[in-house]
Amino acid sequence: MRKTKQKELIEEEVKKLDSFFTAEELFKRVNQKDKKIGIATVYRFLRNLKKKEKLHSYLCNRKTVYSKEENNHCHFVCQKCGEIKHFDVKSLDFLKIKESICHFQIDVHGTCKKCLKK
Ligand SMILES: [Zn+2]
Ligand SMILES: [Zn+2]
Repeated sequence: MRKTKQKELIEEEVKKLDSFFTAEELFKRVNQKDKKIGIATVYRFLRNLKKKEKLHSYLCNRKTVYSKEENNHCHFVCQKCGEIKHFDVKSLDFLKIKESICHFQIDVHGTCKKCLKK
């Protein structure tokens, strides 16, 4: 019985998050409401959502970030100062692949505007 309640609580918190979030961020929010919920429970919950394709995960700054709706996660990484900027790619139609795309991640490396001015 308690397990279901914990799940509901985590579900509620996921609904409130609207952009990208990490497991730790979610755990902090959930833990404030119920101290008995451990981070392992949060990870298990996220894994399950991913299996159901209700959640998508990306690698951001060596951390796994999750998102409910975004279908992509794109970075511009400055090779000089290491700054990461996020940008949006609407579709991968230009790739002309026939597979059905769930979500994607693109990492572009270069020199940011600030570093170009130096
Ligand atoms: Zn990112
Ligand atoms: Zn830079």
